[in-house]
Amino acid sequence: MPQANPKLNAFPVFMRVEGEAVAIVGGGEQALAKARLIGQSNAVLRIIADAPDAELLSFITATGAVHIAAAYDIAHLEGAVMVFAASGDEALDRRVVEDARRLGIPVNAVDRPELCDFFTPALVNRAPVAIAIGTEGAGPVLAQMLRGRIDRMLSPSLGPLAALAASFRGAAEKLLPKGNARRRFWSDFFGGAPAHAVDAGELAKAHDAAVDLLLSNAPTSGHIALVGAGPGVEDLLTLRAHRLLLEADVIVHDALVPEAIVAMGRRDAERLPVGKRKGCHTKSQAEINALLIELGRDGKRVVRLKSGDPLVFGRAGEEMAALRDAGIAYEVVPGVTAAFAAAADFELPLTLRGVSSSMVFTTGHDLKGNSLPDWAKLAISGATVAVYMGRSVAAEVAGRLIEAGLSPDTAVAVVENASLANRRRFHGTLADLPSLEARADLSGPVMTIIGDAVAGANFERSEPLAAHRHEGAAAAAEGVEQ
Ligand code: SAH
Repeated sequence: MPQANPKLNAFPVFMRVEGEAVAIVGGGEQALAKARLIGQSNAVLRIIADAPDAELLSFITATGAVHIAAAYDIAHLEGAVMVFAASGDEALDRRVVEDARRLGIPVNAVDRPELCDFFTPALVNRAPVAIAIGTEGAGPVLAQMLRGRIDRMLSPSLGPLAALAASFRGAAEKLLPKGNARRRFWSDFFGGAPAHAVDAGELAKAHDAAVDLLLSNAPTSGHIALVGAGPGVEDLLTLRAHRLLLEADVIVHDALVPEAIVAMGRRDAERLPVGKRKGCHTKSQAEINALLIELGRDGKRVVRLKSGDPLVFGRAGEEMAALRDAGIAYEVVPGVTAAFAAAADFELPLTLRGVSSSMVFTTGHDLKGNSLPDWAKLAISGATVAVYMGRSVAAEVAGRLIEAGLSPDTAVAVVENASLANRRRFHGTLADLPSLEARADLSGPVMTIIGDAVAGANFERSEPLAAHRHEGAAAAAEGVEQ
């Protein structure tokens, strides 16, 4: 059991080092590692090494660090605010530690925690913002792991944004009364137009947006991110999607996005399901558009979460047009579309040298009337065809393609719940495809891939579609297409 109130043995502080000397004693790898770490600050590095190795030497040349090319002497530490004993030689490191203490300078001895006055953190650097991770010298691997995770969570533009904020601090204090107004300004600054402009690399625009905010010229404007959630499994979400989820005030999501992904948002974010699944309250597209506009006008940061990629059969076109018309800022974050996830699950090359060099994303639902859809011609000329929402029209799709001249022996791969642990894979031919419609056992979303390139897939973990070919069509699924 962890202690109720575990206490730290080392307390983190941020020490002012700008223009100050930091002494590193040592000429090898350890010295270089510390030099690189401290080199992320504006400290003046003083490296004491009579025989630095080549890499350290080129670091010194490249950074203009002060190099004392002499055997170590206590005098070399004079005036430093921090000392690193990084020689790799225990006797020398001990001497450096004793000398530093005699001079009253805090000292760190690499890999000798018992000799350290302070520890160096694993550092996430978004200067002027810094996140320091410490494990009291016990777990450098753990610290690096945490560093990686935190680093991925934070926008690369956090640094420039914080620098811009610093330049506005004085003005905000002068113009805005302490309390609500000032808090509101900063929350709009870090979550609103200035932040989005910095993210987009438009610093001048960010500055203007901040001025507008400060002078209250700008109504607090919301922002909608149309975000692809990927095919279902959490770790196929993009880092950007994850970050936006953590920043969102409101998450508006389709039913096809699994709960586990919706849960990855900020704990106190409002979550609004907008349907499209049997038995759920479903909003019409017009209602969804209106909802997004309303949230935007309320100044909310919204993530509109869609399965797969938002621009593939996601009705993003309509939502973007509505937002544009309403003058609400939005952005699009791509996601891994179902066809790609299904192909990965099948180790299926979507393009295959000499076999297929183009690809069609289609839905079985455009097969109206007698005219063949244009993509049928592409299928015949060798394109790989990915059929979205195709299960309930599988027979129609197969029939039309065969009618158009595609061989009934053309390979077909089907994946239910692509990317998820409960996925199922089926393989067969175009002639087997109609059996899909009769399968009541498929309740998840289904992706169908058709074409000669499918023959290059791995069929070791898939079941034959043909096994179901003769099952009564009477049992035909009434399941709703997602
Ligand atoms: N924008 C989504 C597609 C939405 S249409 C995307 O880019 O993936 C919904 C259809 O996508 C489903 O009917 C199914 O054909 C497909 N689909 C979505 N997720 C899927 C998954 N995990 N496995 C198989 N097919 C999936």
